[in-house]
Amino acid sequence: MAHNLILVLNCGSSSLKGALIDNESKELVMSCLAEKLTTPDAYITFKKDGEKHTVTLTDRHDHTGAVGALLDEMKSLGLQEHVKAIGHRVVHGGEKYSGSVVINEDVISTLEACIPLAPLHNPANLTGIRAAQTIFPDLPNIGVFDTAFHQTMPQHAYTYAVPRELYRQYGFRRYGFHGTSYRYVAPTAAKLLGTDVQHCRLIIAHLGNGASICAVKNGESMDTSMGVTPLEGLVMGTRSGDVDPSVYSFLAANAGMDEKTVTDMLNKKSGLLGISELSNDCRAIEEGADEGHEGAKLAMEVMTYRLAKYIASMAVATGGIDALVFTGGIGENSMAVRSKTVAYLGFLGLEIDEKANEATRFGAEGVISPAGKKPAVLVVPTNEELMIAMDTSRLAGLSS
Ligand code: AMP
Repeated sequence: MAHNLILVLNCGSSSLKGALIDNESKELVMSCLAEKLTTPDAYITFKKDGEKHTVTLTDRHDHTGAVGALLDEMKSLGLQEHVKAIGHRVVHGGEKYSGSVVINEDVISTLEACIPLAPLHNPANLTGIRAAQTIFPDLPNIGVFDTAFHQTMPQHAYTYAVPRELYRQYGFRRYGFHGTSYRYVAPTAAKLLGTDVQHCRLIIAHLGNGASICAVKNGESMDTSMGVTPLEGLVMGTRSGDVDPSVYSFLAANAGMDEKTVTDMLNKKSGLLGISELSNDCRAIEEGADEGHEGAKLAMEVMTYRLAKYIASMAVATGGIDALVFTGGIGENSMAVRSKTVAYLGFLGLEIDEKANEATRFGAEGVISPAGKKPAVLVVPTNEELMIAMDTSRLAGLSS
């Protein structure tokens, strides 16, 4: 192992995902997932060449402890001396960042200033950055923002119809998320179409536990479904997506629920889980629906109908569609979600070839519309880690 390696970190409030990527081949060398951080049950699982093993973090159960355990693992494999830079997924960069940056104290101050915009995510991302600085004091850290790709959205797409003062005073506007995924998927989809991302109109649906959709025209985000926070838009695993904002006053008056309870309900108890009363997991919803579970059937219908409505509305932002692209855990794997959604969209010329739909799953990329049909429907597995590694390599001066 003589190549330079890039460490990619993605920190949640109680979790840390890590990926070590070879800067030359761009291949994944090893990965890790730490969970239950900040509790005595914290552990970290390492995966390399298909082999997994777990280490408990009892005596060092915070994010710094997890990064320390990762360093120990890399040392035992003789990898640590090859690590040359660290890339961090950062959820909210506000309006300040339209691209990735080398992290210094100024950047950290800006991220702290963005905490009101992402109170759940940015503090965790900052914890990860601090942990990396502590454990790897000599390595450069690069921040890659979920919001950055959407900074090209026009004002009419990002402005909420509320008093303008709220934007001027508090930055209350639509930002959008999953930008790193869209930035990877858009050129990959264009290549599949045999064209350049600068010359096509794509509607990309990133459907995972969190889900959003993006209108990409000539390589730029023109609109997206998430807003000031990742709660707006599509039906997600546990998030409601769009709902009448009166939900707050309605539930305060009728159910005695305070603001925190409603926010918690909309983020953690809604979406597929809330409708189905079964699960937030799309696989369980599909199985339930197949077995006749009423809640699961309804969850599936609400999710795919909302998604189809959003796809049609995003065509306004792009001024037409060259391809609809599915990505994320659900988009990459669920034949049923793809099929049900596209069935609503025949009037836009969208159609699915069910054989291709069945064949394009579990990491495969490809065209799932009938041969030669325009617009095309594509499946493109996302790779946010690779995107973060490539930005990190470039900004750390490691790219050839
Ligand atoms: P992500 O957040 O991108 O990892 O995606 C997680 C979601 O993908 C969960 O709702 C999973 O149930 C869903 N998913 C993964 N594999 C499949 C599959 N084979 N069929 C349907 N949904 C899947």
